[in-house]
Amino acid sequence: SRQLTLESRPNGAPTDENFKLKTVELPALKDGEVLLRTIYLSLDPYMRGRMSDAKSYADPVNIGDVMVGATVCQVEESKNDKFNEGEWVLAYTGWQDYAITDGEGLMQLGKEPANPSYALGIMGMPGFTAYMGLLDIGQPKEGETVVVAAATGPVGATVGQIAKIKGCKVVGVAGGSEKCAHAVEKLGFDACIDHKADDFAEQLEKACDKGIDVYYENVGGKVFDAVLPLLNTAARVPLCGLVSQYNATSLPEGPDRLGMLMGQLLTKRIKMQGFIIFDDYGDRYDEFAQDMQKWLEDGKIQYREHMVEGIENTVGAFNDMICGKNFGKTVVKINNP
Ligand code: NDP
Repeated sequence: SRQLTLESRPNGAPTDENFKLKTVELPALKDGEVLLRTIYLSLDPYMRGRMSDAKSYADPVNIGDVMVGATVCQVEESKNDKFNEGEWVLAYTGWQDYAITDGEGLMQLGKEPANPSYALGIMGMPGFTAYMGLLDIGQPKEGETVVVAAATGPVGATVGQIAKIKGCKVVGVAGGSEKCAHAVEKLGFDACIDHKADDFAEQLEKACDKGIDVYYENVGGKVFDAVLPLLNTAARVPLCGLVSQYNATSLPEGPDRLGMLMGQLLTKRIKMQGFIIFDDYGDRYDEFAQDMQKWLEDGKIQYREHMVEGIENTVGAFNDMICGKNFGKTVVKINNP
């Protein structure tokens, strides 16, 4: 079995030197155990936090351990009555091509699921995050303006499409004209602004001619700076992620803007709330899954994957995602089904 272990903690963007690709012998299967063959590995921004030992809501991966991550696997061999050979499961076995588990925490996906990798994206953690953050914290109302960045990624694309279903005006923010065109033409956003444009802030202001009622925060940095002055009184800001900062090694340059931020929150009575999806909403997965299943069946939600092949390309694919070279949900195909 091949596995990618964390060998040192990255300073800034992770590099190949921070990881080691190892080949290990798998022990024989014991009673109660299942051997899983990884087909798809999910790459998600939160993994950058796990590579670091800075204090966070979850413990870091220890040096020498296999990098964590959600996977969709097939049962290769089973000595556990609950699992049959060949069936698909959603697991959390990390960056490796085989894993042995006792079956605890596996979600069964059946013998022939239509789109097994969707369990890592639109039907899984990112889709669930979009749904709860937008609907529970954002509370979008018909006719309101919703802005979301990383607009073609699994969270942002889903946020915008759900906001459209709820009758909102949706303005996306994405890197580059191809992604912006996709957000408008395929995802049905009303507009999408390229954050790399020199006049990004002006374009955003023009697109949000009635201000912003909900800003679903995925990125922070320059995008938030442009959004803040446009927020309306009683705006809601679900604070989901700050991916522009994940590789940062120092505080941002320029004057301290904290006083201005707090002044805006106060005078405009803005509600900004962070959340960690499974900690805060773990018991509401079924509610999400029911709605999302229906929206997919009705063609109301479009979903795009960015599929990379081979465990040896995992680190590169992870870095590409953090800096925006992905176009859709990043998934590594580790083995053929
Ligand atoms: P994506 O696949 O959308 O990847 C991240 C994207 O962020 C990039 O593709 C890029 O898109 C954008 N980006 C990167 N740097 C910048 C920058 N400097 N300025 C503007 N945009 C930038 O990721 P996900 O959909 O998986 O995740 C989106 C966010 O949701 C992340 O912040 C993640 O941490 C968070 N999250 C939070 C959870 C929670 O429980 N709170 C759970 C799951 C996700 P582009 O090229 O368009 O700029």
